[in-house]
Amino acid sequence: MAAAPTGLPVIIIGAGVAGLRAAQLLRHQGVPATMLEAKGTIGGRMCTVPYHNAWLEMGASWLHSYHQHPFRTMVKKLGLRTVFTNYNQAHTFPGVQRDDTWHTKLQQAIKRAAKQPKDAPLESFLTNLSTSMRATAMLEAEMYYGASLNKLSGWNFDEGEETKNEDYLLLGGWVHWLQAQAKGLEIRLNTPVATIEATKAGLRVTTTHGTTLEACAVINTAPLGVLQQPTQQAALLPALPPRHRQAIAALGMGNLEKLFFTAPIPSWPRHDVMLLNHPLLPLWYDVTPLLGTPMLMGLAGMGALEALPKNPSAADWLALATPALRQMIPHGPLPTMVAHSAWQSDPFSHGSYSYYKVGSSPADRKTLQKPWLGGRYWLAGEHTDTAYPANIQGAWRSGERVAKALLKEMSLKTR
Ligand SMILES: Cc1cc2nc3c(=O)[nH]c(=O)nc-3n(C[C@H](O)[C@H](O)[C@H](O)COP(=O)(O)OP(=O)(O)OC[C@H]3O[C@@H](n4cnc5c(N)ncnc54)[C@H](O)[C@@H]3O)c2cc1C
Repeated sequence: MAAAPTGLPVIIIGAGVAGLRAAQLLRHQGVPATMLEAKGTIGGRMCTVPYHNAWLEMGASWLHSYHQHPFRTMVKKLGLRTVFTNYNQAHTFPGVQRDDTWHTKLQQAIKRAAKQPKDAPLESFLTNLSTSMRATAMLEAEMYYGASLNKLSGWNFDEGEETKNEDYLLLGGWVHWLQAQAKGLEIRLNTPVATIEATKAGLRVTTTHGTTLEACAVINTAPLGVLQQPTQQAALLPALPPRHRQAIAALGMGNLEKLFFTAPIPSWPRHDVMLLNHPLLPLWYDVTPLLGTPMLMGLAGMGALEALPKNPSAADWLALATPALRQMIPHGPLPTMVAHSAWQSDPFSHGSYSYYKVGSSPADRKTLQKPWLGGRYWLAGEHTDTAYPANIQGAWRSGERVAKALLKEMSLKTR
């Protein structure tokens, strides 16, 4: 059994999926691991908010690439149900410009981009787009990759092993799955890490409450958006190698927010997926049958956020959403807003999930997988996974990768 070489624990920053998985594996091998989580809850960007007898997911909802998803059997064992989301049966409202030959056009763009000597925005490779094709392209880019067509890398925007059209929505609240994962782990909530310094024995972690902890190694799972903040970089990433710095800057942090509306009885058309004629809020879901309470869920991408004031309020969202709601409910009272996410302004997230910005590539994520400070400082999180970046599967794999690498290092050092 491996043991921490100095007798000091491994400190894991963040109790999202990546952190939980790393802590599980370390604990399993008897390596003490302390998790420091800034917020009052575990899960990070898996964030379930209770609403009456239902559960609203403000972050991740779907198991993408379902058939090879590592959580598939785990959720079943917990008695949680999953439901396939059939985008091919989306209901389109009058005026919606949609072109289902988009995937062919996209393949052509990928081939065109690959022939170019330099990376450029995906938009520049999608030539001669009809209005309907452009609307489809924007929707796919913003809702799936979390970024606009003019920000996504034409070369690499789609890098990874994601299987399309295998999206299953989890019912009953991710919170239950998270609680099961966190069992037996040492997690200190409401404990934001303020600084990390390298010392002779290892690393010193100081929280914003002034508590100091010594560690043999640190695994930092803070989201890319946090690492990109100059003040956070200076405080949390001591002796950051230049190539890591470049990789953090090269990748993009996308934006996606969720909006939830309710009414005493559903007054909207009852389709699982709805495509509206709204340039900024085109994608809506009737999640009433899934939640067992009347609920509409809308997704808002980068375009919507760029059109709104910084840190949009509920009133800002409502003003933007009203024309969309009026398409679904032409007469009578509109549903009321229950909640909206705010990942963009969340200081422990600064965005929704990572994407390939123009000029970035999988080499950047691979760089972020490399430890520094003599193998004592590691990054984990969805942004460091090349196969399933931007999703919970990627985050899980990243925690697993770092824990296994660290355990290997430790057994070598203790041998
Ligand atoms: C709106 C939205 C919808 C999404 N939908 C899906 C989906 O349907 N399916 C899917 O697979 N993925 C989805 N994702 C992406 C998925 O949620 C993330 O990829 C995944 O949860 C990331 O896990 P992580 O462990 O890498 O990071 P996080 O979950 O962000 O965990 C990092 C943790 O670090 C903490 N932290 C940050 N700074 C500090 C600090 N200084 N000190 C202490 N703690 C700190 C944070 O509070 C956080 O808890 C969605 C994300 C969003 C925002």
